[in-house]
Amino acid sequence: CWGRVRDELRTKIGQAAFQNWIDPLEFVEAENGVVRLNAPTSFIGTWVQRNYGDSIVQILSEDGVAADRIDFTVTAGGAKANKAAAGSDAGDVPAASAPKPAARATMRGAQGELPTSQLDARFTFDNFVVGKPNELAHAAARRVAEGGPVTFNPLFLYGGVGLGKTHLMHAIAWEVQARKSESRVLYLSAEQFMYRFVQALRFKDMHGFKELFRSVDVLMVDDVQFIAGKDSTQDEFFHTFNALVDQNKQIIISADRAPGEIDGLEERIRSRLQWGLVVDLHPTDYELRLGILQSKAEAQLAANPGVTLAPGVLEFLAHRISSNVRVLEGALTRLFAFASLIGREINLDMVQECLADVLRASERKVTIDEIIRKVADHYNLRMSDMLSPRRARAVARPRQVAMFLSKNLTSKSLPEIGRRFGGRDHTTVIHAVRRIEELRATDGQVAEDVELLRRMLEA
Ligand code: ADP
Ligand code: MG
Repeated sequence: CWGRVRDELRTKIGQAAFQNWIDPLEFVEAENGVVRLNAPTSFIGTWVQRNYGDSIVQILSEDGVAADRIDFTVTAGGAKANKAAAGSDAGDVPAASAPKPAARATMRGAQGELPTSQLDARFTFDNFVVGKPNELAHAAARRVAEGGPVTFNPLFLYGGVGLGKTHLMHAIAWEVQARKSESRVLYLSAEQFMYRFVQALRFKDMHGFKELFRSVDVLMVDDVQFIAGKDSTQDEFFHTFNALVDQNKQIIISADRAPGEIDGLEERIRSRLQWGLVVDLHPTDYELRLGILQSKAEAQLAANPGVTLAPGVLEFLAHRISSNVRVLEGALTRLFAFASLIGREINLDMVQECLADVLRASERKVTIDEIIRKVADHYNLRMSDMLSPRRARAVARPRQVAMFLSKNLTSKSLPEIGRRFGGRDHTTVIHAVRRIEELRATDGQVAEDVELLRRMLEA
């Protein structure tokens, strides 16, 4: 009967949530209306109890198994402990309401245990495609994962949605564990940190909480912007942070923006976060998107032997789909599902048919004219300066910035961009793009200008 519960829930809540919460459970017995399940951590038990408890009871009763309530036992070292969840990047926020008694009973026991975090098996360094926009973040992540003396603490990774922050953090965790299996790595999202903190307060187990967090070798907190404005959680985070830094333990933090830009973050935390190395993941560019698509398509082709892929499809997708890799992946998954279902080659017609919504949503709205105007404004130039043949640095540099942005923010081809800049050759555009790419790495002012303009244009 547990098999049926699993099947039903998988359909009902989706594969990701299923893997996070249901898959790690073991059915023990159903007796006298009590269903006994074993969970690898009390956190999972509590979560399942609250979110899926009713569904489980219902499915069982449809199956003729009388169930009034679910009891969870926790075995940290159990058969499935390696899949235990501190939870992955699931977006849902645990509300801090009281769990049912069964979960409460096991909460304490588990605080002293160190659960292995749930790590996505696909999120490894091997599966991470490196390109210009993420090479610094990747290099920093690698360095941290290699162990050795702690050189920057914390490592702070930031960037927009779907650019690979969580992927890199999991990759670090896998690598650290592979190199040194006794290392205690704890990965969790900031909401889970808060959730645990709130639970510890509720059950007066701050001691257990502190012991847990202060005994890790590597602590990773994903999406830290979540605790902004949550004062007591921030406080506790601050103390945890300091305690670990004092012990020279590595901390890795991610957020959707730079420490200085997270509103509602206490000043002392902000400054702590900047102590170490702060690196950002830039929005993907065409080359990176294509690289990622190629790597994912290869895996899909291997998994779907009947499916073939027409030339030009990946290039088209890399051109047309936004910088968010998750959207890119979703598109590819959909194409492969579609193709394997109807047994056709994936070609551009199928892309139009199957991804009409995705393509519409990711239509770029920024035009080259807008870019030229904004850049001219920013540097106090006239539009005509931007298009003129003048080569004086004061004009040439902004023009290069505008070309760079045109390349990255629109889907226009190099020759088209050249034409719009007073009829220039596409090689001039290539040169401009390269030059700005170099300068972004070496010249802080240029990097800042480009970032600011990009934000203004995309806003
Ligand atoms: P974030 O945490 O920054 O929102 P994720 O790490 O969850 O983004 O990445 C979203 C999806 O895109 C994941 O499936 C991840 O594997 C994939 N992804 C992101 N960047 C890359 C990359 N450089 N190479 C391969 N896959 C990537
Ligand atoms: Mg993430």
